[in-house]
Amino acid sequence: MKIDFDKNSDGLIPAIIQDATTKNVLMLGYMNQEAFDKTQETKKVTFFSRTKKRLWTKGEESGNFLNLVAIKNDCDNDTLLITVNPVGPTCHKGTDTCWEEENTSSFGFLTKLEAIITDRKDNPENQDSYVASLFRKGINKVAQKVGEEAVEVVIEAKDNDDKLFLDESADLLFHYLILLQAKGFTLKDIEEVLKKRN
Ligand code: AMP
Ligand code: ZN
Ligand code: ZN
Ligand code: ZN
Repeated sequence: MKIDFDKNSDGLIPAIIQDATTKNVLMLGYMNQEAFDKTQETKKVTFFSRTKKRLWTKGEESGNFLNLVAIKNDCDNDTLLITVNPVGPTCHKGTDTCWEEENTSSFGFLTKLEAIITDRKDNPENQDSYVASLFRKGINKVAQKVGEEAVEVVIEAKDNDDKLFLDESADLLFHYLILLQAKGFTLKDIEEVLKKRN
């Protein structure tokens, strides 16, 4: 890998640290050639700390190491994107990322879908919207729909028709997202529960 450490007079280039699983941006640090080499050798991300003015292996005191997954160079070889498996919270203030909890995992399209559902919940008078009509009918109706879709998933799981299984799974997830919001929750809340069990 050709990396342009000499672009800056101090020989440092920025390294963006990304969680390999959630894709969250965890922190930003700086590396010189030595820090880069040590990171590759030890498989634990090591920066050059501008404050400490020495090599700094993230986690050296806290134990919250960043276990190396992969290093990618950017288009003009002056910035690194490093994917890691973090051991514990990355920020020394105790949060998973250095941008507190606003910078938390997004569920991609599912997060967009949640935003659409929130809009329908906030505008229940919208006559054109199926989701709004479900919110108007109330929580029992929404819960009943989830039950029905769950049964349909079970039925299709016993068949060999993958298309039907996927369609019913999508119906279930969709109605489940609506039920969560009818109860005042989002997927994120469920993720928190699962994380605590892990
Ligand atoms: P650690 O490398 O996790 O053992 O932390 C050692 C010291 O490095 C901390 O006391 C902080 O001063 C600093 N530090 C740790 N993590 C970060 C971070 N994500 N961003 C900036 N400074 C950090
Ligand atoms: Zn660049
Ligand atoms: Zn931080
Ligand atoms: Zn269905």
